[in-house]
Parts: sequence; C-alpha cells; structure tokens
Amino acid sequence: SDQLHIRNFSIIAHVDHGKTTLSDRLLEATRTISEREQREQLLDSLDLEREKGITIKLKPVRMEYRAADGQLYQLNLIDTPGHVDFSYEVNRSLAACEGALLVVDASQGIEAQTLANTYLALENDLVIIPVVNKIDLPGAHPEEVAQEIETVIGIPAEDAIMASAKEGIGIAEILEAIVRRIPPPRGQRQQPARALIFDSHYDPYKGVIAYVRVVDGAFTSRDRVRFMGTGAQAETLELGIFRPAMTPLNELVAGEVGYIATGLKSVADCQVGDTITLADAPAAEPLPGYRPAKPMVFAGLYPIDSNAYPELREALERLKLNDAALSFQPESSAALGFGFRCGFLGLLHMEIVRERLEREYKLDLLITAPSVEYQVLLSDGEIVTVANPSEMPDQSRVEAIEEPVVEISVIAPVRYIGTIMELVTTRRGTFISMDYLDPTRVLLKYRMPLAEIVIDFYDQLKSRTQGYASLDYHLAGYQEADLVKLDILVNGQPVDALSLIVHRDFAYQRGRDLVERLRQLIPRQMFEVPIQAAIGSKVIARETIRALRKDVLAKCYGGDVTRKRKLLEKQKEGKKRMKMVGSVEIPQEAFMAILSLN
Ligand code: GDP
Repeated sequence: SDQLHIRNFSIIAHVDHGKTTLSDRLLEATRTISEREQREQLLDSLDLEREKGITIKLKPVRMEYRAADGQLYQLNLIDTPGHVDFSYEVNRSLAACEGALLVVDASQGIEAQTLANTYLALENDLVIIPVVNKIDLPGAHPEEVAQEIETVIGIPAEDAIMASAKEGIGIAEILEAIVRRIPPPRGQRQQPARALIFDSHYDPYKGVIAYVRVVDGAFTSRDRVRFMGTGAQAETLELGIFRPAMTPLNELVAGEVGYIATGLKSVADCQVGDTITLADAPAAEPLPGYRPAKPMVFAGLYPIDSNAYPELREALERLKLNDAALSFQPESSAALGFGFRCGFLGLLHMEIVRERLEREYKLDLLITAPSVEYQVLLSDGEIVTVANPSEMPDQSRVEAIEEPVVEISVIAPVRYIGTIMELVTTRRGTFISMDYLDPTRVLLKYRMPLAEIVIDFYDQLKSRTQGYASLDYHLAGYQEADLVKLDILVNGQPVDALSLIVHRDFAYQRGRDLVERLRQLIPRQMFEVPIQAAIGSKVIARETIRALRKDVLAKCYGGDVTRKRKLLEKQKEGKKRMKMVGSVEIPQEAFMAILSLN
C-alpha cells in the first residue's frame, strides 16, 4: 500500500491505565477482531509479566480503517514494553512509529514511567496524541489531567481526547486523530531496502522471527538478508504481517510493519535495534540508534544439586535464544561450587529469568545477591571490570574504583517529598531538580549509584509512599567512589558468595546489619557458629548463632509416628534451598540478605 495511507503508532501508558482495553476497542472498531474471546491471541503470552503487574506487551497488529475522508488506511499498532528494565526496547519500538497515543487514567494522572517514555517518543520526533481515559469513573478529573499533560509535556489541553475505553467513548475520535494528526511514513521506496528490528521471538520451525518496520525499499519472501549490526546473514523463510495472527505475504514495502522469519538459531544474531538489509543489494548505512543489549545487573546462579550443572547450562542456552539481553559465563565459588555469572537488564529481568529456569526447566537454584559492574583501575595502570564482588582485587593493588550511576525520576504526591529525600540520601543520591506537575504532585530528579537502586530501592520507595510514587531511571555514566569489599566469614571461613562492595562510609553499618540478619537467617547447628563481617583482615562486626541444644526429633521421641514423619518431610523441604558451606548449612535467603536490610 502507498505510504500516504499508512499510519504507524504506539501506545504509551502506565500499568492499569487502560492500554489493553483501549487496544481491544480499536481492534473491534476496525473489525480486526470481532469477538472479545479473541483477546487472548492479541496478548503476549508471558504469564509472568501479568503476575508481576507489568503492562502486558501487545503483539503488533495491522488494522484497516475507513476514515471520515472515505479513504482506506493501514494502521499499525506497535506496542512498547512497560518496565524500566526495557527502556532500550521501548526506544526502538518508538523509533518504528510516527506517532503515539499517550493514555492517562483520568483519576490518577501521569506517572514517571509514562513521562519517561513520552520523552523518548518526543526525542524520536513522534506526534503525541493525549488520551484521557476512564472519564466514566466517579473520581475522574479529566480537565485537570489534560492540564497536567499540557504543563509537563507542552501539548495543549484542548488537544487531549476524552475517552472511556470501557464504555466505548472517544474511540471514533481516536481513530480519526491517528489518521489526521500522525504523519505518514517518509521512507524511500526506490532506495536499497532497510528495516528496523523492534522485537523478535524464536520459533522452533522458522528460527528467529524478526518484527520489523520497513523504512526504505522492499523485502520479498525469497530474499537473502543481512543484519548490519551483527553481520549475520540469513535466507528469508517467510515474511508477512500481524493481523494479529502471523499472515504470510509476498512482500513488505517501505512504511509497512510485519515480520521476517530468518531461520536463525539465536536472537543474539538478530538484535532489537539492528537494521536488516538485502545481502545482494545492501544499504550503505544502517538506521541510527543500534546498540547491542547490555546487561547492567549481575548475579551468580548455582544449582542446588551440583549434578544439575549441565542442565542449567542447557537451560540458559535455550533461554538466551529468545533473550538477547541475557548473558552468562561459567564461574566457580569456593562456597557454592560450579555455576554461572549471569547478566541482566535489571532486577525484574533477573526475576523473570530465575522464575523461568525454575518453572519451565524445573531447576532448583541458588542465586547470589545482585551486583553491578565496576571499573577498577589497578596500580599498574591496568583497568579491569568486576561484576562479582568476590573477584574485587586486593585493596593494596587498587588505585580507583568507578561505579555506574543513574539519573532517576520519581513522581509522587507533594506530601511524600520529605520521606523520598531521606531515602535517596541514605542511598548516596544527590538532588538534581524538583518540579511541580500540578499543585499536588512533584517530579523529583536525582543522581544515584546504580548499586543502590539494585538493592530493593523500588520496594522501599513504594512502601514509604503507600504505593503512590512511580520511578524511572537511565544510565548516566560511571563515577569514582570510595568503595571497599566487605567479606563475610561463617564459622571462621570467608564465604565468597556473600561478599559485597559497599561505600566506605556505610561499611560499618551495612556490616553490622548484615551479620545481624544472617544470624536470624542461618539455622542453628549442633555447634556454635560465629558470623563476622570484615574489611581486608579487619573484623568490623560479629554475631554468634547459638548451638542447637536438642535434636529436633527428640521432641517426638517415642511419640506419634506421623508427626515425626511430617517433621522430617518438612526438614527435607527446607533443605532444598540450602547449601552446605564448610560444615554449616546456609539457606537461599542468606545470600539475598543484603536485599532485605533497611
Ligand atoms: P493496562 O494495564 O494498561 O493494559 O490496563 P487494562 O486495559 O488491563 O485496564 C486496567 C483496568 O482498568 C481493567 O480493570 C479495566 O477494565 C479498567 N479500565 C480500562 N479502561 C477503563 C475505562 O475507560 N473506565 C473504567 N472505569 N475502567 C477502565
């Protein structure tokens, strides 16, 4: 179809503000999907995402819409993931569009993540159409929300469309606005073919399926293609569009959105943000903005049963097929044996990978506390990166350590400013700015070490603000800091997997809190177990786990057999997540203790 009749758009919304409901309405109104039961096929199938309250990512979908001008338009909806861990993917999805619907709940107002994504959209020159949703709610204050959008983003309040996805109000107006306000694609049909990859998935039969926006030229179902960033090449096995089911076609042309099945075995060869061109008639330049997925948070993954190491490797390899951002390499720990140091985009990504390994691959895992990646300048001038605290070189050899820092945005009601300031300060944050979005809500910006965010910052923020604050962050470079390695000794033995990097000023406090917490978490043994925190050879804190006086079974000696069996079974259950370190059993929670300090 000619580009003048194509509109590519995305929906930016905070979780629960109504993105899914609104998309349903658009699909119904354009008769792309007639029955509500078909909704399921529209949604991405990751149950985990749903459980974790992340806005579910919708599959891309093409709609046909006859506008008020009597002409038929092709509308392509490309969704953006709704979590800060995936902001690069959001950026690339937006780069595939010329416009976005900004959906804001009329009873809630704009949130940090939404605002951050809107800025990304503006940076990509997208036309923003504000949609104030849920105007049917008794607590709705749509005029104020439209005014807030004007104040914060600068789009006139009268441009906002008042809608209720639930009641079907405003849907016709939104469809017209998509055609009227969003410009058509401006690619060159005659130029060498270029397509932007904004998503992908692995299919066991067709290999990696790249989700693409064709920018210039055309692709056919028989082409040999090249990935300009990774250098990989592939035969096109099939190409087509999402309606929303994958529907094969003979060609995809400039301006269109669709998929290309590549037969590739790994998404690592076909990364989000990369440009696909034709192997025989390649474009001179890739599209701008590609960068390989870069993990920011690292943790050790160890099988509880050390025999399961090969299975863990295989599972990680399988997951990696579908997840270019996941990295892993073998490591070993004196305490935990053989495992992998894995890299993730963020904590949520880590959670998702861990749960998938356990649910889909039935692996019992022990995971160490997450760490960021440090740049360490050694006295001899060498620079090493350290993603595992136990591998931090000895202090005597270290000239300087740099850590990643992020800029965070928090949006919250004015009454929480004090508590947020306090939290950020104890996490080594520095103030950047404060802006009132309206008389009751502020946008706060700070610079903070990433390591401090990784340690349950988000949970703390939520609990201190009764859930009212929203958070977004992005990497803002590296910065030197006075950091030291804190070692933990259990029963006189250093446990490498418990080591952590902390700021010198907080080392004593963290050390004391941590040994205290470990004392609670490590079960009592038949003998007394000292727990110590040390910097180098200097012990800075100590707690003692008292010896267990009687065998647990002694209680039921000669007693009820069922009770005895139950007790034994319960112990076995508990054992699953324990690791023998020397002569002491350490449970999973202990390795994560640092995350539950205050
Ligand atoms: P998403 O997380 O942004 O995809 O949000 P959903 O579309 O799943 O909607 C979240 C909740 O808000 C659901 O319970 C919807 O039924 C409800 N909802 C969505 N739009 C409206 C609306 O216009 N009015 C009302 N009252 N509820 C709505």
